[in-house]
Amino acid sequence: MFPAAFDYSAPTTLSEALSTLQQRGDDAKVMAGGQSLIPLLKLRFAQPQLILDIGRIQGLNGIKRDDGHVSIGALARHVDIERSKELAKLVPLMVEAVHWIADPLVRNRGTLVGSVCHADPSGDWGSIMLALNAEVVAQSAKGERVIPVDGFFEGPFTTTLRPDEIVTAIRVPLPSGPAGGSYHKLERKVGDFATVAVSVQVELDGRKVKKAGIGLTAVSETNIKAKKAEQWLVGRELTDDAIAEAGRLAAEAAEPKDDIRGTAAYKKDVVRVFVQRGLKAALARAQEVKA
Ligand SMILES: Cc1cc2nc3c(=O)[nH]c(=O)nc-3n(C[C@H](O)[C@H](O)[C@H](O)COP(=O)(O)OP(=O)(O)OC[C@H]3O[C@@H](n4cnc5c(N)ncnc54)[C@H](O)[C@@H]3O)c2cc1C
Repeated sequence: MFPAAFDYSAPTTLSEALSTLQQRGDDAKVMAGGQSLIPLLKLRFAQPQLILDIGRIQGLNGIKRDDGHVSIGALARHVDIERSKELAKLVPLMVEAVHWIADPLVRNRGTLVGSVCHADPSGDWGSIMLALNAEVVAQSAKGERVIPVDGFFEGPFTTTLRPDEIVTAIRVPLPSGPAGGSYHKLERKVGDFATVAVSVQVELDGRKVKKAGIGLTAVSETNIKAKKAEQWLVGRELTDDAIAEAGRLAAEAAEPKDDIRGTAAYKKDVVRVFVQRGLKAALARAQEVKA
């Protein structure tokens, strides 16, 4: 199907883009890589009057270490994350996880920021960003605001972003001690969206957990954070019993539905098992960092 007719604007500066959104935000859609937006337009699930293509704006494509965090620019593509030596050192979870996203064609065009803004409950980056306690940096003509990803997703394909805002970057806080992460994804075939996926990040203080992040994919109306499981882990050693309880608590937080990919009960059990596997892998990686 062809998209409905729309105006197209491709500004070369952020201020130009923001001033266009200030005037026409309610009727416009920002486009980065177009990997999710273009299919929506073709299916006519979205019929904006204006496509604001931000692809020519300079300075939005960087992956930069800053004060206590690493910042992923709005035009940094999945492939840039895949190839980033800095990220491989600072947040290896992201470099491991990116291979699970779509296929090389999509990874060459699509962006992390676009994925998070798309807010697909089956999207991978949302739960990874939740596990990492990342923040969204949103800019409008009126100024900047920083929104924790935990709180950014309002519902399926809906976020708290305002129509006049552009996300310029996502900030991922850096651990202050030994840390490790993992991403486990069950998919029907390579390149498919998740049946279930689980993202885990732990930071250690000695043998105990200082911080824990657990994000769940495709088991609720949005990507979700398994907060009770996270809280349970803090201050504890990652013994088999502690890990088993975290898996149980995370499965309790999941609210999957029966669909062609599996029953709700099956998906809950996959969450339980993946949280356990994820925590064991994250612990081993954190201990490697320490050694
Ligand atoms: C065949 C195929 C397979 C896929 N498989 C997977 C998969 O396995 N896992 C997965 O997680 N995803 C998958 N995807 C989805 C895809 O990876 C991402 O959703 C996509 O990369 C989003 O990034 P984009 O830059 O293309 O965003 P776009 O398509 O340009 O935009 C997506 C949405 O975000 C908004 N947006 C984008 N950038 C900004 C910004 N800077 N500020 C404000 N709003 C913005 C747009 O308005 C739009 O609503 C797949 C897609 C395809 C086509």
